[in-house]
Amino acid sequence: MFDKLERARLEEIHFRHDPDSRLNAIIAIHNTRLGPALGGCRCIHYTSDDQAVDDAIRLARGMSYKAALAGVPQGGGKAVIMLPADGIEDRKSLYQAFGRFVHDLGGRYITAADSGTTLGDLDEVSGITPYVSGTSRDGFNPSPLTALGVFAGIKAAVRHKLRRTSLKDIHVAIQGVGNVGYALAALLAEAGARLTVSDTDPAKTARCASEFGATVVTGDDILTQECDVLAPCGLGGILNDISIPLLRCPIVAGAANNQLQRPEHGALLHQSDILYAPDYVINAGGLITVSLGYMNASMPGIQQRVLALESTLLTLFERSHAEGCPSSDIADQMAEDILYQRHFGQRASAKLVI
Ligand code: NAD
Repeated sequence: MFDKLERARLEEIHFRHDPDSRLNAIIAIHNTRLGPALGGCRCIHYTSDDQAVDDAIRLARGMSYKAALAGVPQGGGKAVIMLPADGIEDRKSLYQAFGRFVHDLGGRYITAADSGTTLGDLDEVSGITPYVSGTSRDGFNPSPLTALGVFAGIKAAVRHKLRRTSLKDIHVAIQGVGNVGYALAALLAEAGARLTVSDTDPAKTARCASEFGATVVTGDDILTQECDVLAPCGLGGILNDISIPLLRCPIVAGAANNQLQRPEHGALLHQSDILYAPDYVINAGGLITVSLGYMNASMPGIQQRVLALESTLLTLFERSHAEGCPSSDIADQMAEDILYQRHFGQRASAKLVI
């Protein structure tokens, strides 16, 4: 176990077994240098305890990196509830027990939604502990703000790679027009971009065709569109050995998590002269919302922070270009510079943003 913690540079890991509610949960706190750890609670089926531990550690580490580059005063953490094989007997008591677990950590970890945990579940948690963000009563829907961040990131990428300051007539191919993809399409259409969209749900693409005049394609055709920007907003793992050689775009910038199937696919994009906006940087709008919403920031204040992702990404792209290094590697380096204080003074600047 300590090997795992050392490899991931994880600060703490906590376990809770509550026989009454049948809660088996793990909270991993990766790094609290910038502030209390913030991250969602995933409630899914795991085939083993080890798999759940590994998932909690991996996700907590990812949250530290995301928070560091999003400029929010937050560390990285994640909770995992192991979904019982025969389902949840009493959801209310399960999440109340989880709330007690969170509360016992004294605020070093703040929980939020993730796969399998609903806003209603978080309402139960909020009856037990104040260390929760994104309940149904908060009124902050992260998806439109994630889309706003991706929109800002696309502007940065277009400016850097195509030397264009406007998105007018820029052709963007969006894979997946769900909560984030649809909101992104609306922003891009308003900015005068030309859209091609795909989704496994034809009703969603039809809506984009009628509202934004988007061209609709099906299946993997979206990946081979000749366009200025490919915006993956559906699945993870879509940038891989098979898809990358087929891409016909100078930029990949979208909301989907874990777009690179493996870390080395960031290098393959770089070698292919395709500018990649690292997913955890460009899709941080949701985290910024949950973080600043927890601190009672106003919506205009949150939007301003989300729009600042444009300058973060521009800095990242410029550094990638100057150092001849993949943007995905530069993102990791920039996050680690902040997390491990390679440059003094970063802590103060990260704290200043609230
Ligand atoms: P969503 O489920 O609302 O939308 C995803 C869409 O992708 C759906 O409409 C789905 O039908 C479509 N899709 C699935 N497989 C597809 C395929 N093979 N081809 C084309 N379309 C396909 O999810 P969302 O909230 O919009 O999130 C989109 C992505 O962004 C996810 O990867 C998510 O993890 C990531 N993300 C979301 C947020 C947020 O605030 N919602 C924040 C950060 C990251």
